[in-house]
Amino acid sequence: MNKNFDFIVIGGGSGGIASARRAAEYGARVLIVESGSLGGTCVNVGCVPKKVMWTTSQVNEAISISDQYGFKVEKKSFQWNVIKKSRDNYVERLNGIYARNLENSGVHLIHGRAEFSSANSILVGDEQYTSEHILIATGGRPSVPDIPGAEFGITSDGFFELEQQPEKVLVIGAGYIATELAGVLHGLGSEVTMLLRKDKLLRTFDHDAHEMVMQQMVDSGIHILVNIDLASLVRDANPDQKSSNGALGFVERDGKTTSGFNTIVWAIGRHPNIDQLNLEKAGVSVNDKGFVETDEYQNTNVTGIYAVGDVTPRAQLTPVAIAAGRRLSNRIFDNQEKSKLDYSNIPTVIFSHPPIGTVGLSEAEAVAEYGQNNIKIYKHTFVDMYFAVCKHKPRTMVKLIVQGESEKVIGCHVVGRGADEMIQGFAVAIKMGATKSDFDDTVAIHPTAAEELVTLR
Ligand code: FAD
Ligand code: NDP
Repeated sequence: MNKNFDFIVIGGGSGGIASARRAAEYGARVLIVESGSLGGTCVNVGCVPKKVMWTTSQVNEAISISDQYGFKVEKKSFQWNVIKKSRDNYVERLNGIYARNLENSGVHLIHGRAEFSSANSILVGDEQYTSEHILIATGGRPSVPDIPGAEFGITSDGFFELEQQPEKVLVIGAGYIATELAGVLHGLGSEVTMLLRKDKLLRTFDHDAHEMVMQQMVDSGIHILVNIDLASLVRDANPDQKSSNGALGFVERDGKTTSGFNTIVWAIGRHPNIDQLNLEKAGVSVNDKGFVETDEYQNTNVTGIYAVGDVTPRAQLTPVAIAAGRRLSNRIFDNQEKSKLDYSNIPTVIFSHPPIGTVGLSEAEAVAEYGQNNIKIYKHTFVDMYFAVCKHKPRTMVKLIVQGESEKVIGCHVVGRGADEMIQGFAVAIKMGATKSDFDDTVAIHPTAAEELVTLR
């Protein structure tokens, strides 16, 4: 085999595969190197298995209120291992689809760990491959802090390996993963405690959104411990009756110990995968947290070496990695000189209970950027008709942040049932520069929760 390629991609996850296939479409000879399972984090230990579990808990919630819709349904048991098996099979099917797609695109795939040997060559085992263009798309992995007993906790990777549903779980963290996994576990019947080092969940999101989610999670029975100064994790010396191990717990800096958990999950952010890349041999620089810095065109400091996705210090989302990867290939292999990802107005959903859909600025960001007097807030909370006949009536919130006399919409936040599917279309409007009057001019679809966004007063 000729070991010189037009493009070498390190990492067969969301960004790497998208970029490799796009380059091959333009006729480039492409090599992709993957050290784990094809599809990367999203397919194997991220979006995909998470969404299956989120949907599983939605099904449970629907069964729980089905009597109020007139159904007599007897819920006998939930078999975690059944959905785990179906989920694993689905992921395996996706791994196969990704492999076939690469083959059909003519991308050459090698399974192995790549490292740089120079600025235009990599090593996989003893074999050296060269290219003028090399993409780093190696993603990240869950962070675990350096404190005594940290090994007693699992990470989101470990969560997806669980064969049985844990009864009592401690989830440490306050971001996407902590909020999503806590909601899923609680929704499926586990007793869930969350440990926050500060006093808010999802505090970088709009304050109305994160406050509403946190309140509804507490109301649903999730224990949220705030302002905890964590010193260590511990395991009780005495085994409990159900397992051969003692219960797990945590110790605070002042010595207070809380115990009684079967499982502890770390969900405190992710580290970039750069350790074994030998970046210094290529001269690629990283920031103080180890992320590969790039300019807006995904160029690193070394000509011909690029980076996309979670290995860079930008939004860690699958569609972001894909979009950046594809645009990079448009630029290098199709002479689309200006092709680059605009990182503003990226919509995102937190699959929490209830979900958050959001695009644009939070209220605090809008005030900081434009000043309090130059923005206006339109907000409404209501009970989704889904719950109209139910005893428990959680509220939904829609919120628009508009700016200036034209009332350009610069932030849109939805919390509640359907927020996850609602936000994508509104993101198109906001990306196009829609104003409040454009929203108002749009005829509502009734009866939906989404119509509340075009009828705000
Ligand atoms: P990855 O997909 O991680 O791919 C990197 C690949 O590089 C991996 O396959 C790895 O094995 C390989 N690799 C690493 N080092 C080497 C090497 N030296 N040689 C060869 N191969 C190497 N995002 C969303 O948009 N929506 C969601 O709902 C969502 N849910 C998530 C849930 C969880 C629990 C997690 C952890 C993440 C979630 N994400 C979600 C984030 C999303 O998964 C990532 O943003 C996305 O996968 C990043 O893609 P990437 O290509 O940068 O990296
Ligand atoms: P996040 O960055 O979302 O959140 C981690 C949070 O944990 C921090 O913001 C911090 O909150 C808290 N934290 C950090 N260190 C500690 C510590 N030592 N002890 C206690 N708490 C700590 O990271 P995640 O791991 O949740 O997710 C990683 C990324 O994956 C996300 O940023 C997101 O981009 C992506 N993702 C996307 C999803 C989606 O699209 N639905 C779902 C899951 C992940 P604070 O500072 O407030 O304490």
